[in-house]
Amino acid sequence: MNLKDKYDIVIAGGGPAGSVAALRAAQAGMSVLLCEKRTHVGLPVRCAELAGYRDDLARFIAPDSAFITATIEKCMVMGPSRIAYCRSVPRSPIMLDRSIFDRMLFENAAAAGAQAITNAEVCGLSFDNTGRATHASVKTATRVRSIGCDFVIGADGTESSVGRMAGLPTICQLPEIYSCVEYRVNQYSGRDDTIGFHVGSAVAPHGYIWIFPKGNSEANVGIALIRAGAGTAASPKTYLDAFMRDYLPDARIVRTVAGGIPIDGGLKQFVKGNVTLIGDAAHHANPFSGGGIMNSMEDADLYVQTLLRLINEGKTHKCHVYEQIYTKKYGWILKWQRRAQKLFYSLRDDEIDRLFASVNAAFGTADQFNEMKFYRACFLAFLKILPPVVKRNIQSRRQS
Ligand SMILES: Cc1cc2nc3c(=O)[nH]c(=O)nc-3n(C[C@H](O)[C@H](O)[C@H](O)COP(=O)(O)OP(=O)(O)OC[C@H]3O[C@@H](n4cnc5c(N)ncnc54)[C@H](O)[C@@H]3O)c2cc1C
Repeated sequence: MNLKDKYDIVIAGGGPAGSVAALRAAQAGMSVLLCEKRTHVGLPVRCAELAGYRDDLARFIAPDSAFITATIEKCMVMGPSRIAYCRSVPRSPIMLDRSIFDRMLFENAAAAGAQAITNAEVCGLSFDNTGRATHASVKTATRVRSIGCDFVIGADGTESSVGRMAGLPTICQLPEIYSCVEYRVNQYSGRDDTIGFHVGSAVAPHGYIWIFPKGNSEANVGIALIRAGAGTAASPKTYLDAFMRDYLPDARIVRTVAGGIPIDGGLKQFVKGNVTLIGDAAHHANPFSGGGIMNSMEDADLYVQTLLRLINEGKTHKCHVYEQIYTKKYGWILKWQRRAQKLFYSLRDDEIDRLFASVNAAFGTADQFNEMKFYRACFLAFLKILPPVVKRNIQSRRQS
């Protein structure tokens, strides 16, 4: 493998964040080394694969039936009292095959001019006496090479080692992580156009269960739980197995994956000198839903735009301004999603039922989901149940 001695940017991680950053930087004429430590980009898939909308995705990659496995038209939510609410969803979100999607993003970066290599782990950084990273150590099957660079991007996922190498505090405490277990099932008999969520203390205390259809009688069925403070010692897998027995007894499990999603609403610091963390490495997934595919690509795009501007203005010593730029554009959204997450998981089952019933009533018999109407209904429903919840939360905070 012919590596150069120096690149403008070295990127660790060939997931959506790293590949989009490499694509954008290469399109702008920078020399880019994109390193993915795994042998096969995108494998194993550790994701429920629900992406955003086709037109949002099209900003990063042309939507392609090779990686779009299903189009979603309806969302079903089942509350603690087992009453299901089902509505149409606007703009038809899509289900991906991440093994193909991630690989195509990676290949697109290479086609744009980035040197994109697999089996290549960024395993160390060297710094000059001003604290700027000057070299990245890249471990391939045969050797470790020290590669010169002007900038480093850590797009290396939840347990970012690049963050640790740069001295960034990336560790998440247990209450700030969704612990997830997911089964890929076949012989799934549900509808291919309907995603399902199940909540309540019996099925998933302090979390939720999802059923996302993949087409061809396949589905991803998983659980995300906040472990600490859940008041139970049972593992996510125990809850998921009980759910499978109760709700999907005929589905056959063909694959199991587990993973964590940081849900702290983002690292306070994710830039140090010329090292910047993006995507899951910076904890930029939605802290309520755990979704991070679109977030990580938006993050990559915004960071490269910022970097190009800094280079043009001769201000490359100011990479840290990206923290303010990101926070202004997306940080406030993560903050509100984090608040919603905390509030939702402090509700009792009867309060969740009341919340769902009020939101449902606000729609009447209209089947079509209307985003503004939905937020208004949620807001009004929350206002109704909020006073006792706030009182209880204050009391429990005082007691602890
Ligand atoms: C169970 C589960 C279900 C999920 N479901 C959804 C969903 O339905 N929808 C959604 O939007 N989001 C979902 N997410 C979140 C989503 O998967 C992530 O937010 C998204 O993958 C983040 O992309 P990324 O590029 O930042 O990181 P990743 O996709 O994690 O990519 C990081 C890459 O870096 C590589 N790497 C790590 N260290 C190094 C190194 N030192 N050198 C080189 N390479 C390295 C890894 O091998 C990996 O390929 C889910 C997550 C989990 C755990």
